[in-house]
Amino acid sequence: MDLADCFPASYTASRERFLAAARALAPRLGTTLDSRALEVRGPDGGTLALDLALFGARRPTHALVVSSGTHGVEGYAGAAIQHHVLAELLPRLRLAEGTAVVLLHALNPYGFAWGRRVNESNVDLNRNALEHFDASLCDPDYERLFDALNPPDLDPAAEALRWGRVDAFVAEHGERRYQQVAMGGQYRHPQGVQYGGAGREASVRHLLALVTEHLANARSVRWLDVHTGLGASGDCEVVTGASPDSDCYRFSTEVWPGWIRSAASGESLATPLHGLLDRGIEAALPSGCRFAFGFPEFGTYEPMRMIRAIRTDNWLHAHGDRDDATGRAIRAEMLEVFAPASHDWRRRVVATGASLVGQALAGLPGATLPPP
Ligand SMILES: [Zn+2]
Repeated sequence: MDLADCFPASYTASRERFLAAARALAPRLGTTLDSRALEVRGPDGGTLALDLALFGARRPTHALVVSSGTHGVEGYAGAAIQHHVLAELLPRLRLAEGTAVVLLHALNPYGFAWGRRVNESNVDLNRNALEHFDASLCDPDYERLFDALNPPDLDPAAEALRWGRVDAFVAEHGERRYQQVAMGGQYRHPQGVQYGGAGREASVRHLLALVTEHLANARSVRWLDVHTGLGASGDCEVVTGASPDSDCYRFSTEVWPGWIRSAASGESLATPLHGLLDRGIEAALPSGCRFAFGFPEFGTYEPMRMIRAIRTDNWLHAHGDRDDATGRAIRAEMLEVFAPASHDWRRRVVATGASLVGQALAGLPGATLPPP
């Protein structure tokens, strides 16, 4: 199979393929399925759900987890890697008693289905895994650039003025500082870009409940949560929210040597971020469990194009019509920026994703992957 063919055509097509492949592996690996549906529906009226497929031990001691779609539309890439794992790796894999592989399809099924990074409440789930929410938390520069980040209209003259202010800001403080202001997360403006929420969203609650339930006996967990956007086209860096002096960081660098970059320390292309999912997951795991975690981030286009797409998508959701010509163009740009159509890009994503999964499996106690 051509690796690019692992990319699904839509959320619904991906979900159906995922569930069918997981069920087909039941006789070999003993599949457990656990689906948590949202109240909202997809654009086709269909169910939106976070689907867990667990292969092997019911309450594993050692587990590898691969999750997709935290940022909705970025789920095409994560799901493609999962479809490759289902088709090529799991049919060969042997799992000893106590070991499991867990695939979590579409942590943010709404965003995946509707082509947005955020969820049904305009919340970025990867800024939402906090214990406490502070509604005043918002970068002062975000406030200063509010209209430029959250335009009330797309009038060309007004837009030129707003982009002039962004250019002046970037000239004074640098593009990286602008990226941090635009992407770091804010908890004050529910309709604004990069809103982190006022409490844990249903998808984050479902995810942490699944972790608490299925990984209650885990002594080691290796976890990849796949993203797209930042970085040169097709390149990958594996970002972690953990600081370099933490056990999580050290174990992650053991599992994926040479790959891990901490967002907290400035060694990553990502700037420091609030409310990252890995921090919430680690807190939900049993105490003493070793935890290796990475967000593989596959580069697509330059950061300014990505921020521009997110900003315009946010305008569309708040003020526009998704089915008129402007709306369709904005949605097409979101898809291209986070799931590029390029055949080569898609092949590279699946190949790199498969090798990261292979590295994690190689060190997973009780897992044996014979060569094809
Ligand atoms: Zn992402």
